[in-house]
Amino acid sequence: MKLTPSRSIWFNGRLVPWDQAQVHVLSHALHYASSVFEGLRAYPTPRGPAVFGLDAHVDRLFTSCKIVRLPIPYDRSRIRSAILETVRENGHEACYIRPLVWRGYGALGVWPDENPVEVAIATFPWNRSNEKDLREKGVGVGVSSWRRMAPDTLPAMAKASGNYLNSALVVAEAKRHGYDEGLVLNVEGYVSEGSGQNIFLVQAGALWTPPIAASILAGVTRACVLQIGRELGLSVREERLPREMLYAADEAFFSGTVAEITPIHSIDGLPVGEGKRGPVTQRIQERFFALTRGETAEARAWLTPVRS
Ligand code: PMP
Repeated sequence: MKLTPSRSIWFNGRLVPWDQAQVHVLSHALHYASSVFEGLRAYPTPRGPAVFGLDAHVDRLFTSCKIVRLPIPYDRSRIRSAILETVRENGHEACYIRPLVWRGYGALGVWPDENPVEVAIATFPWNRSNEKDLREKGVGVGVSSWRRMAPDTLPAMAKASGNYLNSALVVAEAKRHGYDEGLVLNVEGYVSEGSGQNIFLVQAGALWTPPIAASILAGVTRACVLQIGRELGLSVREERLPREMLYAADEAFFSGTVAEITPIHSIDGLPVGEGKRGPVTQRIQERFFALTRGETAEARAWLTPVRS
C-alpha cells in the first residue's frame, strides 16, 4: 500500500503536521527493532466512522510493551482517546490506524535503557484497487520453508517489529514462487499463521484454527471470527493443525485487520475444496462486513464511534 499523507500525526502527546513526524537516524528502534505496533481500522457506519476492536487493540499494544519491556509513557485511556482524536483530526470516514511505540535517540547499544520511549499514531486511507477480487476470488498461498519463531526465541504473542523480519522473509519467498501469500508452520511442524494474518479452515462442518500456543499473534479479527462461528452454530475448534489438514480442508480463509476475511482458493498449487470461496467462508464474511458496517446487534461491542 502506497501511503497517502493525512493532515496530522499524533507524536509524543500532540498532533503535528504529517511531514514533521520524524525521528533521528540513530534512533534505537531503527537498529535493534526495539519497537511494537498496532494496526486498526475505522469503518464508515450510520453513526459516522467507528474503530473496530479499539479496546482489544489497545490492550494488545500494552501487552506487547510489557512482554518486550518497553515502558510506554501513557496510560490506556490516553492512547485510546489519542487514536480517536487522530482519526477525527484527519477527517477520515474510513482509514487504517498505526500506533507505534519505540526506543528513540540517546545511546547506542542493544540495551536501550537510556533511550526515551516514544509513541506515534498515524492514520491514512487503505484502499486496495483489487478489493473485490480479494474478497470474492481470494488468494493462492504456499507453505513457507521458513518457520515461525520458536516459542523460546521471539515472542509471537507480542506485535513486536522484530517478528516482522520473519514475516517479510515468508512473503518474499511466497512471491518468488508465484503465490499471493505465505503460510508458516511452527517449529513443531504444525500450522501457525500467514505473514500477517490468522488462518481458519472449514472441514466437516467445523471451523478450525491454530491455538495461541502455535506461535501465532492472537488476532482481534480472529476473536471476532470465533464469535461469529459460534453464533452461526458451527463447532469451533482451536487445535493444533497438521500440515495435511490444509489439503484436506473444504474451505480456508485468512483473518486480519488488513486481510479482513480473505478466502484462500489454493494451497501449494492444490485447490482448496472446489478452488473458490466456500459457502461457510461467505457467510462468515457477510456477517463480519455487516458487523463492521454497524448493522448487527453485535456491532455495538466491536465498534467505537469516533465522534461521540
Ligand atoms: N498474525 C500476524 C503476524 C499479524 O501481523 C496480524 C495482523 N495484525 C494478524 C495475525 C491478524 O491480527 P488482527 O486480526 O488483530 O489484525
